[in-house]
Amino acid sequence: MLCSVFGHRYRVSKEVTPHVTEYKCEVCQCETTTNPNGRLDVLTPELKEINRVLADFYRKRHSLRTVA
Ligand SMILES: [Zn+2]
Repeated sequence: MLCSVFGHRYRVSKEVTPHVTEYKCEVCQCETTTNPNGRLDVLTPELKEINRVLADFYRKRHSLRTVA
């Protein structure tokens, strides 16, 4: 209810890639994520799974690049 008046108070809950970050509101505990377009989306279980794959993919690609 507070959030509808004052807006959410998001804290970073997970950095997926440098461009995609998951946030959690300290007040109502709702979760959002930035999508590759830089906009905020409600973090659905589906998006959470996409972010998990994205993080995994990014980590692998990044470590490969570091090795090469
Ligand atoms: Zn909130």
